[in-house]
Amino acid sequence: MISIEAAKAIAESFFPRGVEEIAKRIDVPITRTPLTGCDGWCVCSGTVADIVVNSDCSEARQRFTVAHELSHLLLGIEPQVVTSSTQPFKSDAGEETRVNELTGQLLLPETCLKSLITQIPVDGDALRKVARRGKVSEIMAACRIAKRATSLGLENAAVVAFEGETAKWCWSRTLEVPKPFASFLLKQAAGFRRGLYRHQQEDGQVITASILGDPASPVLFVQLLPDSIASQKTDGEAIREAADWLFGKDHHFRCSVNGCISSFKTKHAQTMSLEEAVNAFIDKHSSRWGRPHRQKLESLRGRHYLSLRLAEWFPGS
Ligand SMILES: [Zn+2]
Repeated sequence: MISIEAAKAIAESFFPRGVEEIAKRIDVPITRTPLTGCDGWCVCSGTVADIVVNSDCSEARQRFTVAHELSHLLLGIEPQVVTSSTQPFKSDAGEETRVNELTGQLLLPETCLKSLITQIPVDGDALRKVARRGKVSEIMAACRIAKRATSLGLENAAVVAFEGETAKWCWSRTLEVPKPFASFLLKQAAGFRRGLYRHQQEDGQVITASILGDPASPVLFVQLLPDSIASQKTDGEAIREAADWLFGKDHHFRCSVNGCISSFKTKHAQTMSLEEAVNAFIDKHSSRWGRPHRQKLESLRGRHYLSLRLAEWFPGS
């Protein structure tokens, strides 16, 4: 068995595939097979262990199960069956809390998390990006960010999970969200599904909320921030504003540009700086659109839209 520190170092260097690498290094085979009524378990006999994972679960859920069982093994805490009620940070007492803490660290190491959170307030788009890059669920990403709130520059953050419109549990180290207020925030944030709802408080602070997860069991990510920070536009909001100006109701133009952006970034990501990427994109693609569209795309605001869209893939700006 390797030490916890060694496991964390592997998780960081092999991110987002750290968990699979740790299993390989400690010789724990992962068997994926359809299971009924549970997400997976770990079979131990002496020094030999085997992790069995329900292949019907999403990839993110399977990775959570593997990380959770590996954390049991690394910490020397007897594993148990993982079911769908085993949530990333459900505040269980005792040993399970330690297991979940390590699970989060292996899936989303702090340095990786820090490099993915580039903006405050953190909105739904940013959370989904962390989930996508880390190959974890959105709720896992939200809980991990809330857990590391202070070191990420957020003073306060909480994650509230709902069943329908009823708040079921709230996870936070720094921010208590009363359940009736959480339900109020959920209703308000529903109108901002892709962005951020801001609730101005009398003390000058602002509560922000964004919705994650599926509509039947939504999850709310909540932050408490000073007005000056909360009012800053997120990248997602800036992109939507720029897109409204550029495309208006011209759905065809929007789809055509976005299609080109997708193919462009897969072909060229990491090979050029952001400015070079914007210029190369215009050189390569703008001739396909008629003059008025082309002029708009090549204008300062059009270029601004392109640089916002490409920024994630061409960081060298
Ligand atoms: Zn456990």
